[in-house]
Amino acid sequence: MIRETLPVGLLQCNCTILGDETSREAIVVDPGDDIPAIQAILHNHGLTVKHIIITHAHIDHIAGALHLKRLTGAPILYNLNDLPLVKMMDVQASWLRMPTPEVSPPDAPLTDGQTVSISGLSGTILHTPGHTQGSVCLYLPQQLLLLAGDTLFAGSVGRTDLPGGDTRQLIDSIQTQILTLPDDVVVIPGHGPNTTIGEERETNPFL
Ligand SMILES: [Zn+2]
Repeated sequence: MIRETLPVGLLQCNCTILGDETSREAIVVDPGDDIPAIQAILHNHGLTVKHIIITHAHIDHIAGALHLKRLTGAPILYNLNDLPLVKMMDVQASWLRMPTPEVSPPDAPLTDGQTVSISGLSGTILHTPGHTQGSVCLYLPQQLLLLAGDTLFAGSVGRTDLPGGDTRQLIDSIQTQILTLPDDVVVIPGHGPNTTIGEERETNPFL
């Protein structure tokens, strides 16, 4: 598997590109900004984007999605529970004092247990509400890899003080959907360094 993570934008959201070495198809997760840098990686590996997955509709994760869709033709996928956040993109932009990006409803919704595949690579969507109501993780069981969005970080958990946030729900999502995964699963959070399920189970003070 081809796997590249690059922090993008003001808040350094981790955008991850997952590609299959044989089919050269790819999934891009959270293209929040810096689309030229994402495109350069896709080009270097000769990858064709098939799905654009948004872990949740905070501006730093979704702002570049429509731009990437226009360049690649790939559909944008996210959970419908985050539509209210998409509709208040101007408010989100004002939090960061940045211009309001053009955003769109999803081309297809992401729901719990759904499979997202490209030729040679397959993942499962885990609905993990709490940071936002539409937060999802992408789990690749073959690769022992979890893209956790802003639900779980190395040594921390997602903030719940923004609209749609709910601390009890967040902890419940992590306990039931994430900590049930094997210890050696590598976690790529929405921001900051990677970790593993085992490391967080042992040391995360919020859990
Ligand atoms: Zn967020």
